[in-house]
Amino acid sequence: MAFPDTVAETFAVARRAMVEDQIGKRGIVSPRVLEAMLSVPRHEFVPAEFRPDAYADKPLPIGEGQTISQPFMVGAMTQALELTGSERVLEIGTGSGYQAAVLSLLAREVISVESHTSLTLAAQERLTDLGYANVHVHSGDGSLGFADAAPYDAILVAAAAPEIPPLLAGQLREGGRLVIPVGSQENQELLQTRKEGGVLRSRALFDCRFVPLLGRYGWSRPDRKPTRNQ
Ligand code: SAH
Repeated sequence: MAFPDTVAETFAVARRAMVEDQIGKRGIVSPRVLEAMLSVPRHEFVPAEFRPDAYADKPLPIGEGQTISQPFMVGAMTQALELTGSERVLEIGTGSGYQAAVLSLLAREVISVESHTSLTLAAQERLTDLGYANVHVHSGDGSLGFADAAPYDAILVAAAAPEIPPLLAGQLREGGRLVIPVGSQENQELLQTRKEGGVLRSRALFDCRFVPLLGRYGWSRPDRKPTRNQ
């Protein structure tokens, strides 16, 4: 067996193992999703000290108390959006920009909103440097969606919400898909919803645990009550 002789090759080997073992074997069957995750260099999206763990089966810290989601979660959420390549997608919670990069390979355009300005700037710079030119990152409260570029064919919320933020439904096109973790701050269900006849129809995919969606239609603070119930 040949040994990888560059750092990039070592990461490529780890990435292939990640896609086969953590994603393919756990029910993510979409060839396009698997191909996109084989292509995006996840190690470029994590802080240098966590790079050796970039392809491990877990979320990792990215600063500001936030995390890059576990690879399997990125695969599952992406698959649930059922993208064909022509869509305009809204992501709430840019974080490192990794999920946005995966989406950008599967859709026409990705609009992503992040509330931490430092993460917004770092993600946009990283995505531009890596050549993901169809991703546009904005700073703001994504629990309000992003009305300027609505409607969207698909919406992915990468933070835990107490309920489906009501404005997101209005920004989703008829027939569009919305994937979102909904529940308490401790645990949630990942919902796949579809807009049919003007209303959202949801089904629960599995239990999950995300960092909280803060803001108007999220929580007021980590470990606090939903903003709307105060
Ligand atoms: N998709 C990211 C991981 C997201 S972690 C990645 O691939 O790296 C969830 C992110 O949601 C965090 O960065 C957090 O700051 C952000 N967030 C929380 N509440 C938000 C809100 N109301 N609007 C926008 N972003 C929010």
